[in-house]
Amino acid sequence: MKEITSADFDGEVLKGGRVVLDFYSTECPPCEALATKFDDLSRLYGNDIKFLKIFRQGNRELAEKLSVKSSPTLLFLNNGQEVSSRLTGGIKRSEIIHNLDSMLPAEKIKEIKSGIKPSVSEFDVIILGAGPGGLTAGLYLCQSKVNTVLIDIALPGGHVSTTHEISNYPGFIEPQAGYMLSHSMSEQTKLCGTIYKVAVDVTKVDLDKKEVVIDEYETVRAKKIIIATGTTPNLTGAPGEKELKGKGISYCATCDAKYYDNKEVIVIGGGNSAVEESEFITRFVNKLTIVHQFDKLTANKQAQDKVFKNPKINILFENEPRAFIKEGDKIVTEVENVKTKARQKLVSDGVFIFIGMKPNIGLFKDKLALDQWGYIKTDEDMRTSIHGVYAVGDVISKKYRQITTAVADGTIAAMAIAKELD
Ligand SMILES: Cc1cc2nc3c(=O)[nH]c(=O)nc-3n(C[C@H](O)[C@H](O)[C@H](O)COP(=O)(O)OP(=O)(O)OC[C@H]3O[C@@H](n4cnc5c(N)ncnc54)[C@H](O)[C@@H]3O)c2cc1C
Repeated sequence: MKEITSADFDGEVLKGGRVVLDFYSTECPPCEALATKFDDLSRLYGNDIKFLKIFRQGNRELAEKLSVKSSPTLLFLNNGQEVSSRLTGGIKRSEIIHNLDSMLPAEKIKEIKSGIKPSVSEFDVIILGAGPGGLTAGLYLCQSKVNTVLIDIALPGGHVSTTHEISNYPGFIEPQAGYMLSHSMSEQTKLCGTIYKVAVDVTKVDLDKKEVVIDEYETVRAKKIIIATGTTPNLTGAPGEKELKGKGISYCATCDAKYYDNKEVIVIGGGNSAVEESEFITRFVNKLTIVHQFDKLTANKQAQDKVFKNPKINILFENEPRAFIKEGDKIVTEVENVKTKARQKLVSDGVFIFIGMKPNIGLFKDKLALDQWGYIKTDEDMRTSIHGVYAVGDVISKKYRQITTAVADGTIAAMAIAKELD
């Protein structure tokens, strides 16, 4: 792997044959997460594809000329022509491999793959999931000198990193931007010395053997596992939703509200998330209609008061979505009154859906004792039904799912484990 500057671009890239070029920045957690994968893959593919790095801030003009707008951005080129889609943000090893493979003949790929050696690493504790629950457990374990690895399929932070503002996490007088709060939590745990393996594919989890396989070839073993995998937004199940996900239908206001400046959107839901995120979305949009299945909102009183006072927000009670249809630039949401069964079509520029969550237990759901909604049952020390396996945060069976409660669970599990390992 080689570091280049704009001055080398002509020779190294435009006339350089097959190249993968990494535009990186400093103080960029996703760039750090990519660095080891990039380095590792350069050893495998380096004879056939040139691996180059370029410092984005130091070569701003070139970055702008190439329309590189975020760090890291990976470009895949052949003599200066881009031959594969760009990768940005929390880039997975499997995504890079996919693009590299598309640049080489099948025989060559076979030869390279035969050179991949499976690796095994050992820790005291594996934490699956780096949201507030997992990060807190990582911090407490690290401070107890327990050798811990945090594994996440995305970048650290969990839901907090995409929540626009947190006003109820103790210790801060002013509301905090979610991404800043999660960044501080993550840095605190990382600086302590917890090992991070993030933006990876978790291929297999064996809770009995305490073994996790990531990116197909890397086995991580430990004495204990903490499951902190959180939840994923529920879908309405209405026709058109899956097809329009990311194309007008969104589950994240922080990520997407900014694209609806002076436009009109629909929000499906009426609980805390729907109501609080609606309030945020009105910073951008002209008009927002909340579609809620009941005759009153289920959010807390304070959030409801704000919404009722907001002139941009209308509420359509006792209605449920029945279909989402794309018509030109618009999304048509067909809703049905749950009592009269009368249907109407609401035309908007986009739809946000906040109708609750489901636990992320896909890789181990048949192994653990769960409650009737599929959340993991734990005892007061966060132990699950399998010896040496703990679970914390939103993924466990409990009444209240908040950052404070996830953080508390992480603390308890870590202290219990540290005591057991002592
Ligand atoms: C829109 C919204 C607004 C919210 N606002 C607030 C608020 O204002 N205040 C408040 O206190 N709470 C709020 N919450 C709730 C709060 O975000 C959660 O309670 C908290 O994030 C739970 O933390 P967690 O660590 O259990 O899970 P999460 O934050 O969900 O993190 C789970 C992590 O596990 C990872 N993961 C998933 N599957 C796997 C796998 N198989 N292997 C490895 N890693 C995996 C995910 O990528 C993620 O990083 C809000 C939630 C939402 C959705």
